[in-house]
Parts: sequence; C-alpha cells; structure tokens
Amino acid sequence: MSFLKDKLSIFTKTELPFIKRYQESDRVYTFLFEKDKDLSWNEGQHGLFTITHKKMKDSIRPFSVASSPSEGVVRITTRIDEEPSEFKKALLELEEGMKIKMIGPVGSFYLKDETPRLFMAGGIGITPFRAILKQLEADGNRGGKPSELLYVDSQEAHLYKDELDELARNTSIDVHYLSTRNDMYSYTNEFIASHNNNAQYFVSGPKSMVASMTNYLKDKHISKRNIIKDTFRGIE
Ligand SMILES: Cc1cc2nc3c(=O)[nH]c(=O)nc-3n(C[C@H](O)[C@H](O)[C@H](O)COP(=O)(O)OP(=O)(O)OC[C@H]3O[C@@H](n4cnc5c(N)ncnc54)[C@H](O)[C@@H]3O)c2cc1C
Repeated sequence: MSFLKDKLSIFTKTELPFIKRYQESDRVYTFLFEKDKDLSWNEGQHGLFTITHKKMKDSIRPFSVASSPSEGVVRITTRIDEEPSEFKKALLELEEGMKIKMIGPVGSFYLKDETPRLFMAGGIGITPFRAILKQLEADGNRGGKPSELLYVDSQEAHLYKDELDELARNTSIDVHYLSTRNDMYSYTNEFIASHNNNAQYFVSGPKSMVASMTNYLKDKHISKRNIIKDTFRGIE
C-alpha cells in the first residue's frame, strides 16, 4: 500500500508561498515556504519544485524536504555557486508571498521498520536526515533503537551543525562529523560488527558517494533490502 501511495503522490501539486531565505554557509541557502494544511509527507521524501514566476526552459528540480510537517513549513536547502543555473537565480529572486509549485511528496526514502539505523550523508545529502531526525525527536526516538548519523563533508562545512547537535542530545542518536570517506568506512564497519543485517542503512548524497557506500555495504554482505538510497542526481 505504501508503495502505491508513494507512486500516486506524484499527482499532488501544491502552490507554496515563499516566506524567507537565509544563508547556512558561504554558498548554501535555506528557503522556507508556507505549508498548505492539506500537504504532508514522510520525513526524508523529496518534492519536485517548479519555478512559476518566470518562464524558463528547465524549471523543475527535485529537492529533499528538509523539514518535518509538524514544523509547519516546507524547507529546502541548496548550494548556489557564483554562476548559478537559471533555476537557482530564480530561487534567489523570490520575495515574500511569491509562489513556487511542489509536486509530490515523492520517493521511498523514509523510515518504515523499527530497527537500528545507520544514516549516511555526503555533503548536501544531509537534507533528508534533518527531517528524519526531527521526526525521531518528536516521536521520542521510536523506542530508542540504536541509530547513528555519519555525515561526511570534505570541506568540513557541516550544515545544520548546531541543530544536529541538539537533535542528537534529544534523541540519543550519535552524530559523527567526518571529513573523509575512509572515516565513514571505519564507523560503518563498527556499526556492521554490532548490527549486521538486523539494521537498515540509509545513504544520501551525490551519485558517486551513494554508489561507493552501497557497494561497500554489499561487499560486507549487507542485503540489498536493508539499503535505502537517495541519489542526488545533478550534484557532483
Ligand atoms: C532525490 C533528489 C533529492 C535532491 N535533493 C537536493 C537537496 O536537498 N539539495 C540540493 O541542493 N540538491 C538536491 N538535489 C539535486 C538538485 O535537484 C539539483 O540537481 C542540484 O541542486 C543542481 O542544480 P543546479 O540548478 O545548480 O544545476 P543543474 O542545472 O541541475 O546542473 C548541474 C549538473 O548536473 C547535471 N544534471 C542535472 N540534472 C541531472 C540529472 N537528473 N541526472 C544527471 N545529471 C544531471 C547537469 O547536466 C549539470 O552538469 C536532489 C536531487 C534528487 C534526485
């Protein structure tokens, strides 16, 4: 049933009024939109966001929703470089009350079974985990199954750090801020030694990171059904 629900939500379209944006770091911005009362999502899912205030060739991008519905806003966080795409230029032009369209929620990257969980984020791939940790905080960590977040960023510019530290305190989830993939392999080995296939492994980030961590898990005999992936196509 949940598979069917995930598929059907692709037909849900919602107009979201822009509230405000702020900078998370040098090149990373968060955009907040009003949440329509009928809109909901499972923490970790993404939406397909369309620019509507101007015409452009390539007006849609998928973004993970980085907030939980209980926060009452739709939050997206994205990197905007010095020479942004037309889409991201248009995002920066948004003023309070202007609307963007969201199709969805989409995807199956969310919590289903109550098992220990290893959350693995690469760079901007942290966005769905912010929402998931918010959910776990609200739910009292769902019975307290041991969970860890491994967050690798080679620039050591870990986003949401203050919030993640607070969420870690409120949920007893261990958060590890890492700067290399080798660090991620070491922590992953420790987790596998304790939980093996009695756990779920959530991987989110750029294509190369998701592919290499998935292969690593498979080499360690973690079954495909215990690996849940969110590949951020379009991010190097
Ligand atoms: C499920 C999902 C969740 C995502 N969540 C986030 C998020 O939370 N934050 C965030 O910043 N980004 C997220 N992304 C990536 C986002 O959709 C954009 O692709 C990215 O931000 C780059 O956008 P851009 O406009 O700067 O560059 P673009 O103009 O999109 O181009 C960047 C480069 O990627 C290539 N490219 C673009 N789209 C694709 C594609 N579909 N497949 C292969 N190559 C492609 C282009 O040719 C170009 O070389 C997500 C992607 C997916 C699929």
